[in-house]
Amino acid sequence: MPSPGELTFVAPRGAKKPPRHLADLTPQERREAVAEIGEKPFRAKQLSQHYFGRLAHRPEEWTDIPAAARGRLSEALLPELMSVVRHISCDDDATRKTLWRLHDGTLVESVLMRYPDRVTMCVSSQAGCGMNCPFCATGQAGLDRNLSTAEIVHQIVDGARALRDGEVAGGPARLSNIVFMGMGEPLANYKRVLGAIRRLTDPAPEGLGISQRGITVSTVGLVPAMHRFADEGLSCRLAVSLHAPDDELRNTLVPVNTRWTVREVLDAAWRYADVSGRRVSIEYALIRDINDQGWRADLLGRLLKGRRAHVNLIPLNPTPGSKWTASRPEDEAEFVRALETHGVPVTVRDTRGQEIDGACGQLAASQR
Ligand code: SAH
Repeated sequence: MPSPGELTFVAPRGAKKPPRHLADLTPQERREAVAEIGEKPFRAKQLSQHYFGRLAHRPEEWTDIPAAARGRLSEALLPELMSVVRHISCDDDATRKTLWRLHDGTLVESVLMRYPDRVTMCVSSQAGCGMNCPFCATGQAGLDRNLSTAEIVHQIVDGARALRDGEVAGGPARLSNIVFMGMGEPLANYKRVLGAIRRLTDPAPEGLGISQRGITVSTVGLVPAMHRFADEGLSCRLAVSLHAPDDELRNTLVPVNTRWTVREVLDAAWRYADVSGRRVSIEYALIRDINDQGWRADLLGRLLKGRRAHVNLIPLNPTPGSKWTASRPEDEAEFVRALETHGVPVTVRDTRGQEIDGACGQLAASQR
């Protein structure tokens, strides 16, 4: 990866907004958009059925719509939003990463991960990220722009289609889980991410019909947006990227902590857990000699004890040029033990995709 000073790719200034797409619109707005171009409103439902129900976004596949109308409808409602730059697989093809180029040249990535009992897709909600966490590759390059709802949804629709069509090793399968853990801070692009969650969870043909329980939104801890998210009344899972139990260290690892403290972030998390009935996932990247000391594990245990929480320890995936690396195995084991002493459920995340630059943002960064 080039150093930040060598990054040559810059999104064109004043770039046009992403084209409007079916997946940006509510069912009512789809009917209006279809009527606007002089087509019968019922075509909106047909298009939704093709896009969300059959995962067929190309006009050639819409055989129940007259050929003459297909072009108009496609242009008005299903413009090409993004193209694949490349796919890279690893873990015996159980992990597949896709690098996408958006209409203005912006690059984003998504990852499909196959497990014995489920298939998870990790999607981007922004091109780049403005949160500036020093251990994260995406954070180093800054924010290019927000993705539109349809740009978020299409990563998933295409992943679901590739899976169904057997393009991913292991045979045809259904997408069961979505995690907003790709590039970007989802709660900083609130409206569009919420729109995407609606499209993903609305029953077919209006949406993809994925269970809310299978969706995880991961945040650095934007407290007002966390409260707003709680008020939506969804049963999605919330993940909080904590990475340190004390404000002093967290101010450096997750700089937005200077705005909302550990205490405020956790209070908002517990409120989300109460309202949604879901355990909150506390994400903690273990960084050697930075945040992996026994006393920090103990402090974390005391903060989480008796709460609806689960800790997900992530061995740091080192970003090129960074002096930080993953914790020693014995320190990781000790960290787990200390949390368990407090009765806090904890797992160590299996680190998929390391050899394909799987750490957040590395693939898009190395393309620049
Ligand atoms: N902005 C959101 C979601 C994207 S990052 C958030 O921060 O939660 C998804 C997760 O990957 C976050 O927990 C993030 O802190 C973590 N992450 C980023 N870079 C990483 C790295 N190099 N190694 C391990 N985890 C990393």
